Amino acid sequence: MALATIHGYPRIGKNRELKKALESYWAGKISKEDLLKTAKEIQVNNWQTQKSVGIDLIPSGDFSLYDHVLDTTALLGTIPPRFRHDTQSVDLDTYFAMARGRSGDKAANAMDMTKWFDTNYHYIVPELYPDQEFKLSSSKFYDDFQLAKDIGISTKPVLVGPATYLLLSRSEGGHFNPLLTLSDKITPIYIEVINQLANLGAEWIQLDEPVLVEDRTQEELDAIRRIYDRIASNTSIQIILSTYFGHLGDSYQQVVNLPVSAIGLDLVRGHQNLEYIRKLGFPQDKYLVAGVVDGRNVWTTDLHAKLEQLEFLATEVGSDKLMVSSSCSLLHVPIDVNLETHIDDELKSWLAFAEQKLEEIVLLRDGINLGRDAIKDKLEANAEVIQKRNASIRRFNPEVREKITSIKESDYTRYPDYKSRIETQRNTLPLPLLPTTTIGSFPQIPELRQIRRKFENGDISQQEYEGYLENKIRELIELQEDLGLDVFVHGEYERNDMVQYFGEQLDGFAFTRHGWVQSYGSRYVRPPIIYGDVNRPAPMTVRWITFAQSLTEKPVKGMLTGPVTILNWSFVRDDQPRSETCLQIARAIREEVLDLESAGIKIIQIDEPAIREGLPLRKSEWKEYLDWAVKCFRYSSSGVRPETQIHTHMCYSEFGDIIEAISDMDADVLYIENARSDLEMLEVFRQHGYDKGVGPGVYDVHSPRVPTVEEMADNIRATLTVLRPEQVWVNPDCGLKTRRPEEATPSLRNMVQAANQVREEM
Ligand code: GLN
Ligand code: ZN
Repeated sequence: MALATIHGYPRIGKNRELKKALESYWAGKISKEDLLKTAKEIQVNNWQTQKSVGIDLIPSGDFSLYDHVLDTTALLGTIPPRFRHDTQSVDLDTYFAMARGRSGDKAANAMDMTKWFDTNYHYIVPELYPDQEFKLSSSKFYDDFQLAKDIGISTKPVLVGPATYLLLSRSEGGHFNPLLTLSDKITPIYIEVINQLANLGAEWIQLDEPVLVEDRTQEELDAIRRIYDRIASNTSIQIILSTYFGHLGDSYQQVVNLPVSAIGLDLVRGHQNLEYIRKLGFPQDKYLVAGVVDGRNVWTTDLHAKLEQLEFLATEVGSDKLMVSSSCSLLHVPIDVNLETHIDDELKSWLAFAEQKLEEIVLLRDGINLGRDAIKDKLEANAEVIQKRNASIRRFNPEVREKITSIKESDYTRYPDYKSRIETQRNTLPLPLLPTTTIGSFPQIPELRQIRRKFENGDISQQEYEGYLENKIRELIELQEDLGLDVFVHGEYERNDMVQYFGEQLDGFAFTRHGWVQSYGSRYVRPPIIYGDVNRPAPMTVRWITFAQSLTEKPVKGMLTGPVTILNWSFVRDDQPRSETCLQIARAIREEVLDLESAGIKIIQIDEPAIREGLPLRKSEWKEYLDWAVKCFRYSSSGVRPETQIHTHMCYSEFGDIIEAISDMDADVLYIENARSDLEMLEVFRQHGYDKGVGPGVYDVHSPRVPTVEEMADNIRATLTVLRPEQVWVNPDCGLKTRRPEEATPSLRNMVQAANQVREEM
């Protein structure tokens, strides 16, 4: 009989119980016992939900108070020395100190956080030394297994696998490959944990190794082979080696032949895995965990299509060796679509969140075990939803289709080229050398958030709300005059979020009220859902930008979010390539750009902070992504007259490997993070050359500290050793939204002074 399983379930609680408990605990308002009680309730609830739907192999250990990689750090005892803890096992306060830093007499900086593969989830980066010791230091995984057992559920413990843990770590004290250096030392701890879980009664254990869907060297694959050989000869429990977020590529044969009982394959993002099975076969003695239900997106599964895949797999591996599963943990999707009472029934029928995905998985299992007839009614209902969705006019807007097909190759290119148009711009847009500006947002003070909430709840009228915003803009224009900045912004006070604000004004987008997904720790986001053709029924920003411009002689920048960022921070329809959806968004942004230009706006900034985030996990797929992503940006920005200046902003500095693509975006000015990265990006410009305008952030907006004139002047001077003075802009690293006015204003005052100082030296 085929089994139903999942890789993991959302941990935040249906009503965000975990966030509330964590934040109260951190604020000292509830006790440790209260926090752990909430954590238990969420876990028990998750298990019972899965059980009542009919999942056979229910995960445990997938729950986490903060992050599952940090849990593994606690398990392995790889606590960085600055968090010296004196007890045998990692106590709660050390655990949170690692995640969030600690002040007072035991002050220590938090560990770094970074993106979990290509998701928007962030994990706490382990820090390992070449002589790192490992020591079992947490009983979390045993406790979780036992807790489930106590309520009568025998679970499948899930752990971050040894290779993935090592490869996601940062090497401290000199550069080394943690996998090659430390695998001999880490393996015994895993063996100990596995055997202990087996003693407690576990029958299956899952080791997650998503690093296997990335490019791996043969040396690394050999090291992984040695780890699993050793585990196999020292344990007797059945191990699932789980991979997800992509396909195995050239290492397919090596991976599926590792000495484990089951292999988990992502058959959605890694649909190529199906081809490998078809062409290369699958080991007869192993279980296949078939990740057919998309764990990264929110669409109702086409059950017929998936059943076909599963039927094929059943003939390949035998139905008693098949496990029907999600493609990855359900951590990345919201919990229950039925909470969204404001979404209409039709649209809701297109959506499946975690709970609905459980039902799909169980149904597919039944389809395999009992035959299609046994689930006939459900299959038919599903087929109807899919068919209606595919044909819906809400998905297909003929006007959008028509406009997209009429795009000409020349529409992707700005005319004339940078060299000529910058001459025109110098005449029509007189600016001093080293022009000073900001990235867009100004502090969103609590009062502003309150007023916005009141407006959203209908407690104040639109007129009152807009009157308030106009006053804020008026004040900000005065402030910028007073500071002596050269290029102004309107402050983005009307925006709750840089993607949501646009999505709410575009056709084809839906928003949830409860669709929270964990970003990191207690921070959750509600990504927009792009379900249909994207269209811009009316201008989105013109009203605010032109109002701001009417108050000053200085240029005010039009401020937009770019198409690639809107795409990458949303759940995107899966019935057409992402590149097509992106081009539709680009068209909406292009229309907005042209409206801003007609309204007299001379500089338009199109932010693309997420362009790098969208890079595929395998390098061989980068070019294809960058080609269309850059094209979409170019399409959104290239319709303007030569005298209109296009700016863009990205919030990261590691872009040496994609500098050509960034230059290809052909923005007249690029603002980029610099201050936090030891001027690393200047090195990139030195090596690769860059001919257009650049504003390397002269100070870090993520810190409350007010930077001095001198340090910022030094940053500008450093930039001038690499770039020509006519290229250089002076600005902070990123938007000032999360700063307080008391921090932002003096920092900018110093920044303008720093620019003046350096100008005088020239
Ligand atoms: N213009 C946006 C702001 O200033 C950019 C935000 C971002 O880069 N993430 O807030
Ligand atoms: Zn930024």
